[in-house]
Amino acid sequence: MSDAAHLNKLREVVAESCRIIGMLDLSNPTQGHVSTRIPGEDKILIRARGPMEAGLYYTTPDEVITVDFDGKLLSGNQGLAVPQEVFIHTEMYRARPEINSVIHIHPSTVVLFTICDVPLLPILGSYNPSALDLLINDRISQYDRSILIRDSSLGRELAKAVGKTDVCMMRSHGITSVGRDVQEATVNAINLFDLAKMNYQARLLGEPRPIRDDDVEFFRGMRPKNPPTPENPGKPSDMVYSLWRFYSRQLADKQK
Ligand SMILES: [Zn+2]
Repeated sequence: MSDAAHLNKLREVVAESCRIIGMLDLSNPTQGHVSTRIPGEDKILIRARGPMEAGLYYTTPDEVITVDFDGKLLSGNQGLAVPQEVFIHTEMYRARPEINSVIHIHPSTVVLFTICDVPLLPILGSYNPSALDLLINDRISQYDRSILIRDSSLGRELAKAVGKTDVCMMRSHGITSVGRDVQEATVNAINLFDLAKMNYQARLLGEPRPIRDDDVEFFRGMRPKNPPTPENPGKPSDMVYSLWRFYSRQLADKQK
């Protein structure tokens, strides 16, 4: 595939992730952005904001713009602008060379757990081991501030709070999820949402009971032994791509 064809493909995947997030109601209609690193360059492709945007659910590849690591617009159609929180993305790419996608969205059910002093509990067993895995393998971080991440120093502060985790819950604001590709970052965000949704609904029904300690150990043991590193990034699991395929087809059906 030529470089131009590869970039077009990446733009399509970023736009599709935005539409899936819109379809699943994982953010307010217009607030949120998905990005991916342009391989080998200090540049990213990111969903634009601005007067011509149509919201996450209707994102097209044309609305995915090119931005450098300082948050400067390099190319994009008129009426589109760099999201003011672009620094969530750029500073994460600087801090984590093994990461190729960053998603920032505002999923209401997850945000509720940052507003109330209520912890997410390990209540999901075989119902959704991947969502449980986020919790029991310390893949969720917290960022205590609620402000807009509008400059690189705040971006660095957030990246520090995220550390080596895969999803970060940002108080009274939203989440940031990362992945080795757009598909993995999307599925991480969906799993965090599922974990929060089930915790929330369990609390409406009664007093949620965490699964047994020996079962937690069982699921902890299922995790691949070597976490991704810049030298050895490995590949996302097959489950990531089967879920992606499902949502991709569902989206195509709904948007016919
Ligand atoms: Zn935000």
